[in-house]
Amino acid sequence: MARCEVCGNDYDKTFEVAREGSTHVFDSFECAIHALAPACEHCGCKVIGHGVESDGRMFCCAHCAEQAGVGGLRDRTG
Ligand SMILES: [Zn+2]
Ligand SMILES: [Zn+2]
Repeated sequence: MARCEVCGNDYDKTFEVAREGSTHVFDSFECAIHALAPACEHCGCKVIGHGVESDGRMFCCAHCAEQAGVGGLRDRTG
């Protein structure tokens, strides 16, 4: 049994996510997203898909990047 590091839930179906040399334990994808997903710099929503990145700044979509003054980006989904 492991304990989710986000909500503290004791759960027998936790899973581990290894990232940048450390291992995190979660009971749900919701908790994993809460802990690991970057937030869009413009609208603040969690970037769960590919998102768009420019100069180390992370956005959920090209529209948000544009609104934040980062032009010339395209969604990487296509
Ligand atoms: Zn949790
Ligand atoms: Zn956004």
